[in-house]
Amino acid sequence: MIRLQPIVTIFTVNFPQASCTFQRLAAEGAELNDQQVILHGYIGTRRDASKSLTFAELHDMTLGATVQLVSTPTKAVDGSNSPHSTLRELQEHSPVAISGTIKSRKAPSGKDGESKAGLITSVEVKVDNIAPLNAFPNDIIMSKDTVFPAESRHLQIRNDPSIRNALAFRSKAARIVRNELCEKHDFTEIETPLLFKSTPEGAREFLVPTRTPGLAYALPQSPQQYKQILMASGIPRYVQIAKCFRDEDLRADRQPEFTQVDLEMAFASAEDVMRTVEAVVKRLWTELLGAKDLPDNFPRMSYEDAMSKYGSDKPDLRLGSEIQSIEYMIPVDLVNKIGPLDDPIVEVMKFPIAEDPNDTRNFVNKFMDSPEAQPFIQNPHGQPGIFIFDTRKPLQGLAVFGFEAAEALEDMIDLEDGDLVVIQARPREEFSGGSTPIGNLRLALHKAAVKHGYIDAARGFAFTWINDFPLFSPSSDAEPGQGGAAGLSATHHPFTSPKTAEDVDLLLTDPLKVRADHYDLVVNGVELGGGSRRIHSAEMQELVMREVLQMSDERMKDFAHLIEVLRAGCPPHAGLALGFDRLVAVMMGRESVRDVIAFPKSGRGEDMLVKSPTKMTEGQLETYHLRLRE
Ligand code: ASP
Repeated sequence: MIRLQPIVTIFTVNFPQASCTFQRLAAEGAELNDQQVILHGYIGTRRDASKSLTFAELHDMTLGATVQLVSTPTKAVDGSNSPHSTLRELQEHSPVAISGTIKSRKAPSGKDGESKAGLITSVEVKVDNIAPLNAFPNDIIMSKDTVFPAESRHLQIRNDPSIRNALAFRSKAARIVRNELCEKHDFTEIETPLLFKSTPEGAREFLVPTRTPGLAYALPQSPQQYKQILMASGIPRYVQIAKCFRDEDLRADRQPEFTQVDLEMAFASAEDVMRTVEAVVKRLWTELLGAKDLPDNFPRMSYEDAMSKYGSDKPDLRLGSEIQSIEYMIPVDLVNKIGPLDDPIVEVMKFPIAEDPNDTRNFVNKFMDSPEAQPFIQNPHGQPGIFIFDTRKPLQGLAVFGFEAAEALEDMIDLEDGDLVVIQARPREEFSGGSTPIGNLRLALHKAAVKHGYIDAARGFAFTWINDFPLFSPSSDAEPGQGGAAGLSATHHPFTSPKTAEDVDLLLTDPLKVRADHYDLVVNGVELGGGSRRIHSAEMQELVMREVLQMSDERMKDFAHLIEVLRAGCPPHAGLALGFDRLVAVMMGRESVRDVIAFPKSGRGEDMLVKSPTKMTEGQLETYHLRLRE
């Protein structure tokens, strides 16, 4: 049953405009003494000091500030409920317009002299009138620490200043990106269609059926093709803060819809794009985080180096612990005993944990007993060998590799007491994919050592460009890929150009050896974005799709528009997209992109507040000429 509220609290048509912001109250404080103001805000905690004296907080969401209201009984001019009794009846969290008189006050001091966070201490407001603008229902309990489920995201945003801060930070970041690119680098912000067409670029798409039988749009996985079309259309530099949609597995903190800072430059090389993106990133970090020591240009590393030194194509360079291959130091018969592999590559890394080997031993025990260790223990290429260096028992464990090898190893990696030495075998083949087991172990050990208090969390930001990726990777059935018959898929996307003339020569003879003019920007083990120089010749694009990826005629038709556009004298062009959600999360030190998105989807792709997706009704199915399978 609906509980009736006084009509004014249910539906307010007119309400007084605010005449003063909390910002001004905080800045000018006592200078405003005796001035009349109208403030908008939410009622906070109330304290009835006596029958005739009430204190209440008024919260402002813009600044996250609070001002104290003071109320004593006065008669309402129009004979209605007196403001004093209205305030005393109001439910906490209700929105109100207050008119009152500013009174300077002495800063209240708490037990240790500190005042409450966000409280404006220089003034308070004596309530002259109060207009409740709606009522907060008393069946919702909201205290400072209440955590609301995803179904009540609105209450969580309202109650958790960290989400509101993240959204404000995100908005500032977007403004800086636009300002840097459009004002300083002559980019034009252009919106591209969201109702696009199904073209196999790599990820699975969301389809949007139409009322014409059998026809559907697809939502773009990125504006990649449109931005290339804009280059062929004579637009010099394009940028868009673009929504992208990928119907992917949502593990690994991904969202089915996400935001990119998407850009493209005509008559540009990879170098031009990297310099431009560095300018944007440095401006963001300097203006929003006060970073001072960013290098002029970010360092670069090849994919091959990143994989062999850090076991990851997005290495966290702050962690040290480089990986080295050592099978050449170890007697052949022992190398082959390291795991089930024949002639493996054997890699080692040192991981300093504690000075006392006993502490390191305790850590290893904790780690090995944890679920995080399971994937490494179950590695089909053999478990990692984990040794603890202890000068009291020199070479103890390592001696299984023979005295000479152990000594050479000790010299090579400069061991100290309490260091962990991790040895892992892997097959002797080209790298593919994003990480190796020892690379993952490097991260897992670091995380566990921080969690258990053995080492401090890494600080600062270590940027690097990763380039020289292979243009193609062996395609796995798990990925939709680009649908060619060659067993290959483009590592970035099929519009990426081979890097050099030699790479072009390898296209038909040894495609897996072709390097791409593809670059990813990485910071602290997170890929912030990636891009490439594009194929701008129709013949080359057709060759890559038809001859190398071996797309069928049918598939080729999906890309006919692009080939046609390139044929029209398209200039060389290159671009990149930054994952904007992740960029904001990294800048704010948040674990998950969900923390910086107003309405994130759940792990199952649902919006729990609006309850989407929903079942299609019979009527909708009919409109779109769809039938559900029995
Ligand atoms: N469209 C690409 C992506 O979404 C980025 C690019 O190559 O510009 O990853």
